[in-house]
Amino acid sequence: MPQLRHPRPQPTPLDTPYWDGLAEGMLRIQKCAECGTYQWYPRPLCSNCYSEQLEWEPVATAGTLYSYTVTHQRTGFAFDESLPFVVAVVDITEAPGVRLTGLLRDIPGDPKPGMPVRGIIKTIEAGDSTYGVLEFVPA
Ligand SMILES: [Zn+2]
Repeated sequence: MPQLRHPRPQPTPLDTPYWDGLAEGMLRIQKCAECGTYQWYPRPLCSNCYSEQLEWEPVATAGTLYSYTVTHQRTGFAFDESLPFVVAVVDITEAPGVRLTGLLRDIPGDPKPGMPVRGIIKTIEAGDSTYGVLEFVPA
């Protein structure tokens, strides 16, 4: 059996601050310095006012479950060890309009859209480097 592995993030110049934040144990979301709009995914311009004055703001990981899917299919990655698993889409409370995707773990019963969740930043050891991934658990 081949070695199961976590897929590594492939940061781009646009999303490197997000990945660097997770590696430092914090969630950072792109925010417009002109109008205050948070946005996800990272872009070179504000999606509201087209300003180029974008910053990366630390935000709390708390949110509410917007939607989810249960994955039963093997992918060949390390996630196979936790099949079936739940992939959640979460509205981040401190960053209105931002929905992030991540694994949802430790759910008592079925997930319910609207349920409060919080993020945990998991450190993954990957050979000569480490990186952080955001997962969610019930709040
Ligand atoms: Zn703006």
